[in-house]
Amino acid sequence: IEEKFDAIVIGAGMAGNAAALTMAKRGLKVLQLERGEYPGSKNVQGAILYADMLEKIVPDFREEAPLERHIVEQRFWMMNDSSHVGLQYRSDDFNEEKPNRYTIVRAQFDKWFSKEVQKAGAVVLCETTVIELVQDPQGKVLGVRTDRKGGEVHADVVVLAEGVNGLLGSRAGLRERPAPENVALAVKEMHFLPRETIEARFNLNGDEGVVIEAAGTISKGMTGVGFIYTNKESISIGLGCLVSDLKKSGQTPYGLLEAFKRHPSVVPLLEGSEVKEYAAHLIPEGGYNAIPQLYGDGWVVVGDAAQLNNAVHREGSNLAMTSGRIAGEAIFQIKSRKDPFTAENLKLYKKMLDDSFVIKDLKKYKDMPALLHTSSKNFFLTYPELIAKAMQTYVRVDGVPKIDKEKATVKSFKSARSLAGLVGDAFRFARAWR
Ligand code: FAD
Repeated sequence: IEEKFDAIVIGAGMAGNAAALTMAKRGLKVLQLERGEYPGSKNVQGAILYADMLEKIVPDFREEAPLERHIVEQRFWMMNDSSHVGLQYRSDDFNEEKPNRYTIVRAQFDKWFSKEVQKAGAVVLCETTVIELVQDPQGKVLGVRTDRKGGEVHADVVVLAEGVNGLLGSRAGLRERPAPENVALAVKEMHFLPRETIEARFNLNGDEGVVIEAAGTISKGMTGVGFIYTNKESISIGLGCLVSDLKKSGQTPYGLLEAFKRHPSVVPLLEGSEVKEYAAHLIPEGGYNAIPQLYGDGWVVVGDAAQLNNAVHREGSNLAMTSGRIAGEAIFQIKSRKDPFTAENLKLYKKMLDDSFVIKDLKKYKDMPALLHTSSKNFFLTYPELIAKAMQTYVRVDGVPKIDKEKATVKSFKSARSLAGLVGDAFRFARAWR
């Protein structure tokens, strides 16, 4: 490729598409490179799509985007091996004209998103892997080298939207690779069932959907969560744990997912289904303290590559889209002023991101990843067991006086964690949450 572009975007996931579309819509000459056979072919997500963040990029996306179900009910399960204690929120308010959250299938969704990018005028090349960044001796990024013949191409600025591994950025010395305690390895399966079966099992009308987030003994004391999301004719089920925990425990994510599927609360939901897809992927979970340098001379980094993922609320794609959009807007502003793409000028991206919900939310939970990591056994094993047993004691009618039941429950908590341990955990959790 001979010509020079205003911007090169590496990756056609949520962040890359948001950045490329934002810049192309404003008339910038954009090249987007994707190693997959088509956009989405390499991407894995649960997947919940957050409408607000996409609406800011494609206002009328509901007309054509491939959406599965709009979510009207959220369930949280705290599990032990035989039961779950649940919190459930369902509201007809979510049956609104413009629903707030949808389930999607990334392979279809990313293809549609990429078509929007192409319609806006960006050049999108798939089956093109960026091998390295082209830098001058001072480290300024001038462009990229691809695996295509003669595949060096230059631009004023390069947007790294290469996803969680961030290999290109780390190879170029712009950042470290994510540490094993800051990434989760998640596995996911798609279980196909007739539409009416899903709607009957989950109590749904039409395109309504349910999502379940699950934690507890399913992660065997490691920091990890499971999920079950309803699509039109399939159910996505998955589970992820921190890589450092998996390494230490010797457990495999596939083994954990098998056990999750065999849980008595899950079996009836999946019964009779046919598994057609299986995928594994990393998720950045280090939060605020794991965010690397976000900009430099001739480059910015967005989405998972920048570790922008809110593990507490299970949000990633919306942070990816928002960081991509903001990077695109910042680049457009710099270009309009005819300023050079120095680190000093690209700091604007960081400033705009700091002002957005992305950094504000991650900052709020900055101590949560470390707390969950260091106390994973308590939060993911001991407490779920204690809470499940307490519920069993509370609801079972067996002639034991209620006062004795209460005493037994309090005693079980104290003997498992001691009073100081309980108060300490509550205090540390509240402090990390605030
Ligand atoms: P990606 O979507 O990973 O895209 C990166 C792209 O870059 C890929 O297309 C890749 O092929 C390409 N690429 C990489 N290297 C190169 C290279 N050298 N050259 C060319 N192309 C390259 N988030 C939510 O909001 N809701 C959910 O329900 C949810 N569930 C999830 C469930 C699972 C199991 C997982 C793994 C993640 C989930 N997430 C969820 C997180 C969400 O998927 C990510 O935050 C989001 O995909 C990040 O987008 P991205 O564009 O930064 O990265």
